[in-house]
Amino acid sequence: MNIDLNGKVAIVTGAGKGIGREIAHTLAHEGVITIMLDLDGNLVADSAKEAAGKGLQAYPYECDVRNFSRIEAVVEDVRKRQGRIDILVNNAGVANGGPVDVLKEETWDLNMDINLKGTFLMCKAVAPVMKQQRAGRIINAASFAAIVPSYGSAAYASSKAAVHQFTRVLAGELGPWNITANCYSPGMIPTDMNHFADLPDDRQQRLLDTLTLRYWGKKEDVAHLICFLSSDYASYITGTMIDVSGG
Ligand code: NAD
Repeated sequence: MNIDLNGKVAIVTGAGKGIGREIAHTLAHEGVITIMLDLDGNLVADSAKEAAGKGLQAYPYECDVRNFSRIEAVVEDVRKRQGRIDILVNNAGVANGGPVDVLKEETWDLNMDINLKGTFLMCKAVAPVMKQQRAGRIINAASFAAIVPSYGSAAYASSKAAVHQFTRVLAGELGPWNITANCYSPGMIPTDMNHFADLPDDRQQRLLDTLTLRYWGKKEDVAHLICFLSSDYASYITGTMIDVSGG
C-alpha cells in the first residue's frame, strides 16, 4: 500500500514531544508540509529544527490550544503561507487526575480546557478553511480511558469520552463538505504523560497482562494510523474512534 500524502498541509497540536512529535515527524517524512503547534515554544522549535535538518518541511508555532485569538492568528498565517489546510490532528492533551472526592476543581477544568475545549477551538478555526476547500481530515486524540474506567481518571476519562462524541457530531456537521472527522484511541504508550515502562516489574506485568498483545504500544503505532486516516485510503471512514491499544 502506498500512502501518498506528498504536498498536503497538516497542523498537529502537541507536536513538541511524545506521540504528537512522532505524528508530525512521520507526516513530514511522507512529504506533508507539517505545521507543529505546542504550548512549549522551545520544545516545538527544536522538534521542527530536527525535522528541517533532515530536509523535511516542518514549521513550529508556539500556541496554547486554549487561546482562540492565538489559534486564529496561526491558522490565518498558515492559510496565507500554504494556501490550504488538508489535515488537522488535535493531539495536545494532559492527563491529570485523582479520585473524585479529592479531585481539585482546577484539575477537572484543566483536563476539560485542554483536551476538550482545545479540540473544539482548533476545529472552530480550521473548519471554515476546510469547508472552502470542500475537503479535509480532522483527527482527534481520544483514549482507551474514554471506554475503560480506571481509578482516579474521572477528569481525564470524561474529557476524552466527550472528545469522542464531539467528533461524531463534527463528522455529521462537516460531512456535506467532504470533511471527515475521526478520533484515535491509544492504549498504553510510554511517554512523559505515561511512564508505564518505569513502573516496578510486577506492576508492569499486571498491566501488560490486560493487553491482548502483551507489550507496550509505540508512538509510531499511532503515527501510522494518522497517516492512514489522512490518506485517500480512508476517504469513506468518518465519525468513528479507532483503537490503537494492542487489544
Ligand atoms: P505528552 O505529555 O508526552 O505530550 C503532550 C504534548 O502536548 C506536549 O508537547 C505538551 O507541551 C503539549 N500540550 C499540553 N498542553 C497544551 C496546550 N494547552 N496547547 C498546546 N500544546 C499542549 O503526551 P502523549 O503521551 O504524547 O499524549 C498525546 C495525546 O495522546 C494526548 O491527547 C493524550 O491524552 C493521548 N493519549 C496518550 C496515551 C499514552 O499512553 N501516552 C494514551 C491514551 C491517549
